[in-house]
Amino acid sequence: MYGKLKPILEGELATARENGTYKEERVLESPQGREITVGGKKYLNFCANNYLGLSGTELMEKASEEAVKKWGYGLASVRFICGTQTIHKDLEKAVAELVGTEDAVLYSSCFMANLGLFQTFFGAEDAIISDALNHASIIDAVRLSKAERHVFAHMDMADLEEKLKAARGKRLVVVATDGVFSMDGDIAPLKEICDLADKYGALVMVDDAHATGVMGESGGGTPEYCGVAGRVDFITGTFGKALGGAGGAFTATRKEAAEYLRNRSRTYLFSNSLDTAVTGASLFVIDYLKSHPDYRERLWENTRNFRELMKKEGFKVPDAKHPITPIMLGDEKKAVEMAAALFEEGIYVIGFAYPVVPKGTARIRVQVSAAHTKDDIEKAVAKFAEVGKKFGVV
Ligand SMILES: *Cc1c(COP(=O)(O)O)cnc(C)c1O
Repeated sequence: MYGKLKPILEGELATARENGTYKEERVLESPQGREITVGGKKYLNFCANNYLGLSGTELMEKASEEAVKKWGYGLASVRFICGTQTIHKDLEKAVAELVGTEDAVLYSSCFMANLGLFQTFFGAEDAIISDALNHASIIDAVRLSKAERHVFAHMDMADLEEKLKAARGKRLVVVATDGVFSMDGDIAPLKEICDLADKYGALVMVDDAHATGVMGESGGGTPEYCGVAGRVDFITGTFGKALGGAGGAFTATRKEAAEYLRNRSRTYLFSNSLDTAVTGASLFVIDYLKSHPDYRERLWENTRNFRELMKKEGFKVPDAKHPITPIMLGDEKKAVEMAAALFEEGIYVIGFAYPVVPKGTARIRVQVSAAHTKDDIEKAVAKFAEVGKKFGVV
């Protein structure tokens, strides 16, 4: 009886349109890249998670083509039946080496990696302590576990300590945090988190989706950046952002924990093995980046350059340490309308307002990429200044 559901959906969708949370999909008529085509017009793209500029490149296209040629298109099997090839084992090894853990287990996405983590290790006699601004996939993943739940105020170490005290007496306690938070580009204080976890005998889980391949001297992510590589018990990450952008993900962890995931993690066990194109191309890119540090160097140079130029124009830009750069506007309507005006001018950026971000912190989020040229950055800043003046922001 769809007739019963239809009016409910129509009502909800109308409400979403009214309060500005309706999601309109912009359709790209080109590959992903620094420049994309939408509606027959070219735009400079500043809203992809394409930090190293590898998405849509011939380099990745060739690596995936070669993998498919050598290993076939698909496996039609889960890993433990007949879906494990040499490249899967090699990629798990390469990921573990990259992020500094003993082992790693592949998943179809980081969402699945998170869903398959908490419920596997933590039950009713355990507790999970989660940052208030953690990614939706962590929130859902925590709900799937029967463990006691605590939420600590965003990056608030005093509150985390309170929650660790409250969870004393549980069999296992785990602190879960994003490595980089996507709305502000702020980085979890992992050194402090690991110290507190040690003090209270807790485990640490970091979702490094925005950081693998990006943060740290060798792209090992926020644990490397914060000097705690080897101290974090579970790191989830994705190949769907900086590392090529097609999809695929992992949980990197200690030896027994990886073995346990391969035996018990439901989103791993009962889902097809990672496809050959992504597996082969991810294996390629991890190796390739070892001898091409220039990708990360360009990313940081562009990020610094963009921030400095924006500040010179009078914009409010927080001193974050990640290519995610929020341009703080405060006013809800302004953020959305200014992003639309920038789009008209050929700059694709996204405005975020309440309820996606807290009231009064509306912003335009800019994501800088290694693919951007100096000209791209300068052009984007010039357009920001032009549009910002019209809106009375600068
Ligand atoms: C993007 C993202 C995910 C989801 O990654 P997929 O591989 O696309 O499923 C999970 N966690 C965080 C923090 C993310 O930013």
